[in-house]
Amino acid sequence: MKNKVLIIIAAVIFALGIVGSIFVINSPKTDTVVIKRDDKILYTIDLRTATDRTFDIEFRGSVNTVEIKDGRIRVKEADCPDKVCVKTGWLSSSAIPIVCLPNHLVIEFKENAEVDAVAK
Ligand SMILES: [Zn+2]
Repeated sequence: MKNKVLIIIAAVIFALGIVGSIFVINSPKTDTVVIKRDDKILYTIDLRTATDRTFDIEFRGSVNTVEIKDGRIRVKEADCPDKVCVKTGWLSSSAIPIVCLPNHLVIEFKENAEVDAVAK
């Protein structure tokens, strides 16, 4: 009897986990992107109305070159040592932000930031 209860609890937790991950993957995508440094918002960009452009964000002599094109955003070039931000490519999912650890830079969909705030 006790075992049955445990199995049911485990099944419920498992099901919630699946629902949770589906929610994260399919969470309604906004077109508003924020560029943050140490949780301070540097830019808020609406990709639907943003004009194609490239601009530099500097941090202690290090530069991330951000490109906005066809309603998408990415780090085109960076002089950080690991280049993780460049390799991430275009920002496509609210589950995967573009992060440049050496330059303290994060680019993510705004909705993701709000979910994070609620989770904390
Ligand atoms: Zn980087």
